[in-house]
Amino acid sequence: MTQSPALVWFREDLRLSDNPALTGALDHGPSLCLYIFDTSPERRALGGAARWWLSRSLMALSTAIAARGGELLVMRGDPAEILPRLVRDAGIGLVAWNRRYEASAIALDKALKAELVASGVVVESFNAALLNEPWQVKSKAGGPMQVFTPYWRAARERGTPRPPLPAPEGIRQAKLPATLRSMTLSIEELGLEPRKPDWAGGLRASWMPGEDGAQARLADFLDDGLAGYRTERDRPDRPGTSRLSPHLRFGEIGPRQIWHTVQMALETGETRGSPADAEKFLSELGWREFSYHLLFHNPELATRNFNRRFDGFGWEQDAAGLAAWQRGLTGYPIVDAGMRELWETGWMHNRVRMVTASFLIKHLLTDWRAGEAWFWDTLVDADPANNAASWQWVAGSGADAAPYFRIFNPVTQGEKFDPDGAYVRRFVPELTKLDAKFIHKPWTAPQTVLREAGISLGEDYPRPIVDLDFGRRRALAALAELRAET
Ligand code: FAD
Repeated sequence: MTQSPALVWFREDLRLSDNPALTGALDHGPSLCLYIFDTSPERRALGGAARWWLSRSLMALSTAIAARGGELLVMRGDPAEILPRLVRDAGIGLVAWNRRYEASAIALDKALKAELVASGVVVESFNAALLNEPWQVKSKAGGPMQVFTPYWRAARERGTPRPPLPAPEGIRQAKLPATLRSMTLSIEELGLEPRKPDWAGGLRASWMPGEDGAQARLADFLDDGLAGYRTERDRPDRPGTSRLSPHLRFGEIGPRQIWHTVQMALETGETRGSPADAEKFLSELGWREFSYHLLFHNPELATRNFNRRFDGFGWEQDAAGLAAWQRGLTGYPIVDAGMRELWETGWMHNRVRMVTASFLIKHLLTDWRAGEAWFWDTLVDADPANNAASWQWVAGSGADAAPYFRIFNPVTQGEKFDPDGAYVRRFVPELTKLDAKFIHKPWTAPQTVLREAGISLGEDYPRPIVDLDFGRRRALAALAELRAET
């Protein structure tokens, strides 16, 4: 009797190593490797930058699978229709996948599992994306947690994450019936990359999507970046962070792999980073875990104020302000540098994400959801949990939020974290020649200084679109009004 083949359904786990669903399917026997580009209306569509990343990541995965004797089958449509048909027509006996945590994905996976199991198929699901499942970390009372520090303490008390799995040496490919071949597409046919215009040049120059790119990033970071991470991580003018976020987003590397590689590098002295640097770095993975914990327990995290009191907040409708912010033309150099870094490279430094988000929410009094949506469209690491949780954190409407009255001043933030203006000069070339003394507040520079730097304010570079003091007072007044009402 021949054993029925298995199917591994790749989703946000685009890697071969430490991929328990892949290992589980291959342990069962010959397998089909499948990716479905999900077009069902229930799922939030990926933004432009993430689509570009996905395209490149799928190409890398497809090459890696082919090198091991398999084939990545790519399809497009609604998985609720595609998967049962494929399983039936290919005579699949076991389906394996790694879990996802957005409400729409959970609902889809649950429904599919029930349908497949009812038809006699074994379905196995695994955790590839997190150190702990969102439901495994609980408060003392047994419920969800709302504050990071106790969350992370409780998560750490659960012990060392299990060691990562090796990549399979070979992939025994099951046969795809000819009738199903017509359902497959090439990755190019998914049309995920921009064509007219092709705005992805900066993304191509900045990133190497795929598992090899992720491993190379981690190795470089341990060589160069971990030493001093505790302080350097706040400096956008220096390469002080790992830039692993898009690789994590698409599951090209998993947190368990990062965790164990860091520990190993510390033990063997392969990194100049100190245990304190490593602890800080791993706690950032903890923030990612915490975001997923919040998302799992609050499925509407990207659309509804976690703190419902904010539902009555008096946001302004400032379309011109929003457009200036999106284009990096606010007149505040650190904000503009961040927004242009985002546009050019699909990524923005964490410190500058906080400053730009605060500027939009507080100084322009614009609903955080407008910023969340822009980041969703333009970030290569746009993440359903991290993006939503971070925007709510800055807005003050989230769990464990920065208090609303904490308003980042873009001038002092720039002077503190980009003291020579190197970051601003890199992304705002109009200001390249401006003296460091004025680089974060060009409107205060004497005319002679501006002229020498070749800047005519209002022509080459905008004047501030909002007065900082006015913006701050308006934001605090809106908060006071909310407090009075609720
Ligand atoms: P490192 O400092 O090297 O940290 C390692 C990893 O830890 C990161 O790759 C990331 O997975 C995680 N991490 C680090 N900082 C945070 C944080 N504050 N919250 C949650 N996880 C963290 N991160 C995303 O991955 N996707 C998003 O869509 C996203 N949107 C954000 C929006 C706003 C307004 C803000 C303030 C932050 C956002 N972040 C987001 C969090 C953070 O800015 C990025 O994770 C970080 O800049 C990624 O760079 P890195 O990989 O070099 O980080």
